[in-house]
Amino acid sequence: MRVYVTGNITVDETWAIADIPQKGSSIHGNKVSQDIGGKGANQAIILSRCGIDTRLIAATGNDSNGKWIREQIINEPLRLLPTEYFCQHSDTSIILNSADGDNAIITTTAAADAFSLDDIVPHLADASAGDILLQQGNFSFEKTQALFQLAKTRGLTTVFNPSPVNPDFAQLWPLVDIAVVNQSEAEQLQPDGVPTVVITQGAEGAWLHHGNQRQFCPATPAQALDTTGAGDTFLAVMLASALLRGVLPDRLALTHASQAAAITVSRRGTSSAFPRRAELAALLNSGAE
Ligand code: ATP
Repeated sequence: MRVYVTGNITVDETWAIADIPQKGSSIHGNKVSQDIGGKGANQAIILSRCGIDTRLIAATGNDSNGKWIREQIINEPLRLLPTEYFCQHSDTSIILNSADGDNAIITTTAAADAFSLDDIVPHLADASAGDILLQQGNFSFEKTQALFQLAKTRGLTTVFNPSPVNPDFAQLWPLVDIAVVNQSEAEQLQPDGVPTVVITQGAEGAWLHHGNQRQFCPATPAQALDTTGAGDTFLAVMLASALLRGVLPDRLALTHASQAAAITVSRRGTSSAFPRRAELAALLNSGAE
């Protein structure tokens, strides 16, 4: 069993500034950190750290950021495809943190946008029944739909985290086996009819819906420093916990997910805040609530 993640990978640069710049202004700032990010990469990294055979199919550009991404990803138990650099700038997020705690984010999507089905599909050639296709909202509606259709024809289980949200994604629910949405995505996209739906509600916790059955799992209390990546950690650990036990996402999977997300929110950064392999192994081996 293998998880294929089709999505984006970015370099996340965090800058500390006095205040969010006004139009026409020129300001000083300090670069605080540089991290791997992008929802596709985040989820794939955590799945692989949980011991799941994971392939991330995402575009890295032929620039210094693309080279840096590959130097970092080599430390993860993950296969990143394609192995060639893509003829674009790598996607990048510039996160501006102002002194009063406000922020502004600039994200480029050129590499993910230009990454075509022709670039992606050959890397799914080995995918077969029993494998999983996991997608997020960073691809166009058409590309996301085509990949789920392909997955269904091959008998794969499909998992969708429609973030960033696109109203058209509501049409994709008939192709989805497991939906993971936050409260606002659930309200906008109404994933009714999806066999398994997980609705996360930030520091409160998350709901698991199987048909008419509903279960709530409270969040694990944490001293939250930076909630970036909480949702990605939650999804990946929930999925890994269920896959490692050969079951559908259940109450224990949500408990493991909330424990892992509590680690992520207690640290600053994107991938550098994620639980390490040993932390995930300890957590996934515990059956306690
Ligand atoms: P993001 O897009 O910021 O990564 P999201 O909107 O997809 O997140 P959330 O619902 O905010 O997802 O959070 C997912 C899970 O992470 C929650 O169900 C909860 O278990 C955990 N979590 C989020 N915020 C906190 C917090 N402040 N303290 C403890 N756990 C948290």
